[in-house]
Amino acid sequence: MTVLTAIPQMSKASETSQGSPEGVTAGKGNPEEVPATPPAAAPSASCQYRCIECNQEAKELYRDYNHGVLKITICKSCQKPVDKYIEYDPVIILINAILCKAQAYRHILFNTKINMHGKLCIFCLLCEAYLRWWQLQDSSQNTDPDDFIRYAKEWDFYRMFAIASLEQAAFFIGIFTFLWIERSIATKKNPNFVLLLKALLLSSYGKLLLIPAVIWEHEYTPLCLRLIKLFVLTSNFQAIRVTLNTRRKLSFLAIVCGLLTESAMVHFFRRMEVGHRERLHLRKN
Ligand SMILES: [Zn+2]
Repeated sequence: MTVLTAIPQMSKASETSQGSPEGVTAGKGNPEEVPATPPAAAPSASCQYRCIECNQEAKELYRDYNHGVLKITICKSCQKPVDKYIEYDPVIILINAILCKAQAYRHILFNTKINMHGKLCIFCLLCEAYLRWWQLQDSSQNTDPDDFIRYAKEWDFYRMFAIASLEQAAFFIGIFTFLWIERSIATKKNPNFVLLLKALLLSSYGKLLLIPAVIWEHEYTPLCLRLIKLFVLTSNFQAIRVTLNTRRKLSFLAIVCGLLTESAMVHFFRRMEVGHRERLHLRKN
């Protein structure tokens, strides 16, 4: 069921436009004079939107008639509304995204101008860094009870932030390298890495669930953290599949490749940590 209140002036005419591919049937003057959806990020591209059902390119999402009457454009390929979500409440879109529906992902990635991926990424990394920092403090507290200035150890927090960032970067590099090689062999055409990076950053929103982990530190178990990781990976998988319009198998292999690179980075940092502790131990003795 569509929610017409998302665009207050949206007319019910939008629901009855199945007959016309362009949705121009209301008879309000010449179709050429009717303003369409405002241009998106790339004004030079003639088809900057995508049909959320069949991934076909589209010039517009709706057409604005006089007296505030809007009509959703119908896809020429599948004969369904190009983007039904422009009528929906953001909460419903978010629920559909949580359910990993490809249509919701296409709406968010191709047909909206959400530009918060950078801030979201930094916020998620800060949460992760704080969680790691807290675990580090908690584990060192028992071995070194005289360390009363542990809250002054901001440097540890920045170190955790840097490690979390590098692990995240390694995950993305693994995915990009795999897709770059695979696409070069299969289609001789490189994927749009900027869009892919944006999709991966946005689809990592599940890491926000780390906030409750930060607030209710003792209540959270490692199982919950693993479930958050699994949810983030599932979202990343769907984001790759939708962005490249590719098979599930390829998307899955890209995620596996990213995880392997990330694991190599984690292993590298652990070795460094162990080496650092051994050097400290030798100095004390
Ligand atoms: Zn379509």
